[in-house]
Formats: sequence, C-alpha cells, structure tokens
Amino acid sequence: MTDTSHMTGAGTFRTSPRFLSSSTIGKGSGDASDLFGLGAGFGGCFAPETLMANLIELESLWLDAREDPAFRAELDDLFTNYAGRATPLTLAPRLSDRVGAEIWFKREDLLHTGAHKLNNTLGQCLLAQRAGKRRIIAETGAGQHGVASATTAARLGLECVVYMGARDAERQAPNVRRMELLGAKIELVHSGSQTLKDAVDEAMRAWVEDPDGSHYVLGSALGPHPFPRIVADFQSVIGREAREQILARTGGLPDKVVACVGGGSNAIGIFRGFVDDREVELIGVEAGGHGVPSGEHAARFSGGTPGVLHGAHTWLLQDAVGQVRETHSVSAGLDYPAVGPEHAALHVGGRARYESATDDEALDAFAAVAELEGILPALESSHAVAWVMAQAEALRGERVLINMSGRGDKDLDSVLRARAERAARGGRS
Ligand SMILES: *Cc1c(COP(=O)(O)O)cnc(C)c1O
Repeated sequence: MTDTSHMTGAGTFRTSPRFLSSSTIGKGSGDASDLFGLGAGFGGCFAPETLMANLIELESLWLDAREDPAFRAELDDLFTNYAGRATPLTLAPRLSDRVGAEIWFKREDLLHTGAHKLNNTLGQCLLAQRAGKRRIIAETGAGQHGVASATTAARLGLECVVYMGARDAERQAPNVRRMELLGAKIELVHSGSQTLKDAVDEAMRAWVEDPDGSHYVLGSALGPHPFPRIVADFQSVIGREAREQILARTGGLPDKVVACVGGGSNAIGIFRGFVDDREVELIGVEAGGHGVPSGEHAARFSGGTPGVLHGAHTWLLQDAVGQVRETHSVSAGLDYPAVGPEHAALHVGGRARYESATDDEALDAFAAVAELEGILPALESSHAVAWVMAQAEALRGERVLINMSGRGDKDLDSVLRARAERAARGGRS
C-alpha cells in the first residue's frame, strides 16, 4: 500500500526546511560533522513552524545540561546504580570457533529492561526534570522504547503517555500490558498505517499542545535537530565503555565493530567510541527482510536514496516521486523507512559501511548464539551476528566486536512462528 500520510500538512513533517536560530547553532559544540543545518548534507530541522519553539528550547536545555557536572553525575548514578552499567564485555568462544574470528559481545542485553534504549530514556527524562516538566510523551513501535520510557518515568516520578499504532499494539500486546503495569497511559493511534510512523506524528502533535508541561522522548537517533545528537550523546556510553573494556582485556582495538541499524541509536552509540580510531572498521547491519531484490526489507542504504522524513534529511526508502515505501523485517526494531542522519553522513563520508542480513540469516544467527553461547539475542541484534557469520571467510583471524543491543525474550513468539513457517516451506527450521 502506498503511504501518503506525509502529504497532509504537518502529518509526517517532511516539508519546510527550517534551521535553528544561528545564535544557538553550534553553541558549545565543536563537532566536525555538523548536523545542525545541512553542513554535512544530512540532518537539519525540517519541522513545521508549530514545533520550532519546542526544538529551540530543547537544544539550549541540552547544551546547558551536557556542560553541567551535576547533571552528568546524576545520570552516571542512575546508569550505575539503577540500570546496571557498565554492561559486561563477553568473549564468545564457541561462536568464535565456528566463525574463525575472535568475537566479543558488548552486553546491552544485560541492561535493565533488556536493551540499550534505557540509556536514552534516562538521559532525556533527566533533561525533562531539569526543565521542570511533569509529563513525558513517547512513541513506540514494538513497545521497547515505550517500556523504557514508562520505566524511567516511574523511577523519576513523571507522568508518561505512550503513543502506539493500533496495529502495533495488537501485535505487541504483552508490551502494552507491561507499560500499563509501570503506570503509563497508552494512546492508541488509528490514523494512517496505524504503526510507528503514525505514532511519531501523534506524539509530536501532543508535544506541540503542551510545550511547557511535557517533553517528547524520541526513541532513536532520528528526527529533527537536536534529537539525533541528544540520543547519540546518551547512547555513546556504550562505545566509551566498550573501547576501555576491549583495550583492558586484549591490549588492543577490534578490527571491526558491528551493530544492527534500525533508527541507528545503538549503532551510533558504539561507533562513537571508535570513530576516531581510523584503523577500526565500523559496520552497520540493516534489515534485509526477504532480500533486497524482493523489495521487502528495511535496508535504506541498499535500496534507498536521500530524502526527508520526520524532520531530517537522511537516507530513505521512497519511490521515484518521494512516496515513502512500506518496509519489512522479522524484527520490529529494524522495521522503519528512514535512518538516523549521522549514519547517512558516515556512509557518504566512507567512515562506516552499511550491509544487510535477511530474516532467515538473522534467525540462523539467533539459533547459533542461543546454542553456542547460552544467550538469547534480540532479533535486531541477531542481524549483526548474521552478517559476521556470513563474512566468516573475510574475517578469519580478526577481532570483531558486536553490539548485543538487546535480549531476545521479547522475540520468542516471532522466532517460533518464523521457524514453523520455514519448516512448512521446507527450509531449515
Ligand atoms: C529498538 C531496538 C533496536 C533498533 O533501534 P536502534 O535505534 O537502531 O538501536 C535494536 N536492538 C534492540 C534490542 C532494540 O530494542
């Protein structure tokens, strides 16, 4: 089905290129990749007029907070004593034997709530609290970011409203219950395709209606500036820890760092730790779905082109006239038509390489990690492992660091269903 929701005015806000006032652009940031405007060609703030005041306020709030040692100390305390950081770095000996490379996992699956998303919600909710806001608004697709937001809101005593497409809510009923148990209010979205894209629109709308009382906690390194930077900033703790840990354990850096890429937050989080180490190759693995040639996938860098969605100029799955294409992946967290703009810049600059793994390859990788390492990986993270397994020949003898972005307990139904379907097709189950 062709999606036209972005054509209806403020809908998916792809129009009206806007930039934050030049007085705030770049304040306190000397980063080389300038994503404030379109300095590196990607990012920007293609937001409707009604959102600009919120975004400008958020930018200055964040620029102040990141320079404030008290804010950092409070976040570090939550990371350590609530969320369980630092997460371990685990050698995967049996998978290493199978592949013929030295494979390490950064264990974000062991973070409280079972994935890296809590790093971002803790950071953003502290920002909201700092600004005196009582309520947070979040969008969620599969429910993982909704659960992390509801968890954090409960811990900090904030009200939490989660927007979720009605179709997603049906598919992810256990996460809806989980969020409700944590005290969040779920707003079902019945517009458009009733999935994540529509939930983002509704959450933005709710934020515009209550700019003083609420903060919008965006769930990935996506959206209009300053969101991609804020999220990457909070997730970069993954890469900082991983670099220290692998140096301490092996005395050297990895040859490759591999992470799955949905919106791109776990990948940018680990890449940030190594981006200045030119000898370390950075590889992002997107959802190949039924294979890129089939058209049923979410591999933006293989099948997409530059365009604007949800406020940022980035890489996008769209047709020749700019209609956003439907995506497919066995893993809900990778099933999104656009990618965070910092990845678009890394791709064009050649600093990172973007590959894909299919549904079937991810399911095989899930089985391998379960049976060889005693870890049930998230289906999202399984894509990163799948690419490494497929590249065994090329990686022989190398040291490879994989970001294990989350645990797979949430995916058991999907895995069992997919295995049954494959068995029916006569494939490997
Ligand atoms: C949400 C999610 C992802 C995808 O999101 P990114 O922003 O690309 O990291 C990957 N892995 C897990 C476990 C997730 O929950």
